[in-house]
Amino acid sequence: MDKTIIVTGTPGVGKTVFARLLAKQTGFRFLNLGELVKKERLYGRFDRPRQSYVIDEQRLRKTLIDFFAAHGEGGLVIETNWVGKFMPKKRGMIAIVVRLDPVILASRLRGRRWPKRKIWENVETELIDLSLYESLKCLGARRVYEIDATRKRPRQLLHEAMRLISASRGWNAVAVDWLQRYDPIELSRKIL
Ligand code: ADP
Ligand code: MG
Repeated sequence: MDKTIIVTGTPGVGKTVFARLLAKQTGFRFLNLGELVKKERLYGRFDRPRQSYVIDEQRLRKTLIDFFAAHGEGGLVIETNWVGKFMPKKRGMIAIVVRLDPVILASRLRGRRWPKRKIWENVETELIDLSLYESLKCLGARRVYEIDATRKRPRQLLHEAMRLISASRGWNAVAVDWLQRYDPIELSRKIL
């Protein structure tokens, strides 16, 4: 069966490492949406305070439709920080949402030398399960899988994901609950 596996999650959770491994394991082609956006200049302007580009979602959608058509029936692993209406639906399309303990995430993002505010915004995004809810909204629970990457080696994560995909049960309950573990106010004070 042709498959399109979206690997999504907050920046820094380990998508690139995991998605590349997954592509290697499945023999699927790997596509990084952030890189595609840069290469094809699919953005309007640079948002300086956020240190990131504002994406032209309409052009991104069109580019993806063309890419899917040109790519044919082969399998595809798509790494993306976010899933939205821009994503053209495809048969056999699923999303794997990679999750990571927000405190570990914060320390990884500090390593990227990002501004404090940008680190906090992303930690907040992880705390409130935003990627998960975007994916559920876009694809529906039957096409969404969630994996917690906290303290797991990439290989371990790969095995877990392969097991989940082949069981093909979809998403049924939150795998993680960071808000139960962390007080967002306290966390924000530590980060900001
Ligand atoms: P993303 O693509 O989600 O932004 P990356 O894959 O680039 O995340 O990983 C962010 C950082 O975390 C990198 O330095 C990477 O080496 C490290 N990393 C990724 N996956 C793991 C893992 N399973 N365990 C430990 N460190 C990891
Ligand atoms: Mg990445």
